Amino acid sequence: MARDTIAAVSSGTGGAVAVIRLSGPAAGEALRALCGRLPEPRRASLAVLRDPASDERLDEGLALWFPAPRSATGEDMAELQIHGGRAVVAAVLAALFALPGMRPAEAGEFTRRAFLNGRMDLAAAEGLADLIAAETESQRRLALAHAFGHLGARVEAWRRQLIQAMALVEAGIDFSDEADVPLETRAMAHPPVIALAGELRAALTDRRGALLREGAVIALAGRPNAGKSSLMNALAARDVAIVSDEPGTTRDVLEVALDLAGHKVTLLDTAGLREATGKVEAEGIRRARARIGEADLVLWVHDATDGPAPEAIPDAPAGDGAARWLLANKADLAPVPLASPEWAARSFTVAATTGEGLADLIAALGAFVAARVEGAEHPMLVRERHRAGASEALGHLDLALAGWDDLSEELLAEELRLAARALGRITGAIGTEDLLDVVFREFCIGK
Ligand code: GDP
Ligand code: ZN
Repeated sequence: MARDTIAAVSSGTGGAVAVIRLSGPAAGEALRALCGRLPEPRRASLAVLRDPASDERLDEGLALWFPAPRSATGEDMAELQIHGGRAVVAAVLAALFALPGMRPAEAGEFTRRAFLNGRMDLAAAEGLADLIAAETESQRRLALAHAFGHLGARVEAWRRQLIQAMALVEAGIDFSDEADVPLETRAMAHPPVIALAGELRAALTDRRGALLREGAVIALAGRPNAGKSSLMNALAARDVAIVSDEPGTTRDVLEVALDLAGHKVTLLDTAGLREATGKVEAEGIRRARARIGEADLVLWVHDATDGPAPEAIPDAPAGDGAARWLLANKADLAPVPLASPEWAARSFTVAATTGEGLADLIAALGAFVAARVEGAEHPMLVRERHRAGASEALGHLDLALAGWDDLSEELLAEELRLAARALGRITGAIGTEDLLDVVFREFCIGK
């Protein structure tokens, strides 16, 4: 496939060394033009780089040559490791782009070419994007698994099973005169389709992938002045929320991302939940309620100077799956009333301003997130795109299963085919250009 050759800086900016990558049919020629020769394949060799137009010396560095197909993109590739100064990089790039057939790479274009040349599937490309962006240990591990084909392999296995089932159902079409054959082949395809629908359903209900990528959402809730903002600041160990003696200062939802025991956590400080007096405050309360509704864990902050803790969390419309813990705050000011048995294992005595009890709380939070996130296997459907494909596939399987005894072979096979297509879009086995644009736009230039 004849296409232009792309080049870009692939290292971060500002380092002592810059890496320029080239990919495409003219990569070898360009390398020869700048270095005077083509280095031995896959070996780093010292090179003096010259501007081919003026023969002016530009820099000295390392040159690498990866002839197709044994390269990251599957095309001819070259890599130049040069001094990282802005002027050096600009001069080398200018010399490269003056050569015929060369142009700057677009964001994600190297990875996109790797995908188009079959070096990786779409889910692996996304895993790679996540790996580059990973902030915590658990995100890094999940992204690495996906970058090396964890999701892609599973989805392809599912798709192969579907295609086999489809072939069995379609076999019945050719034998429609002989009454028994279609029923037999259809019956053979039934159990695997049931099993597949079950696996898809289980993967869709597994929220660990989203938890790892987006982080567990932990909401601080409680009456005004209970100390939510102070706790948020103490947990985040930096000033992110406004702490004030006036009730109702925290009008909006403040969020801060934390790394808790290697897991990403988003901590929310919500507006004091109480009857609103002003319009702005009412809006803050509405948003706070909506955001608490998405929380995995609600920490109800109780002001210990107000007396005994409530029996149950009032006014905290968290989702059904959300856990609720009680934090009796301001322990430095008042004796903490005995927690009701309902709270026993899930109540903590803290003082946001002195730091008392925070170490225990943080340890418990880390364990909570770890228990939610960890499982025997890496979660499958990490992104909304994966979930959409899987749930569309499941929809077709459910239709097929509901009509298993009544639908014609043609209609049954068609539902299975649509399910296989929906799965194929997850790995990019079945894809469209605009889908590729969406996936690869996330990458930076040089990747
Ligand atoms: P919020 O409305 O729930 O966010 O409460 P704030 O975090 O704004 O705190 C209200 C007031 O209580 C502030 O003056 C804080 O300094 C004070 N406060 C918060 N936590 C503690 C604590 O553990 N001990 C003491 N003595 N004061 C606290
Ligand atoms: Zn506050």
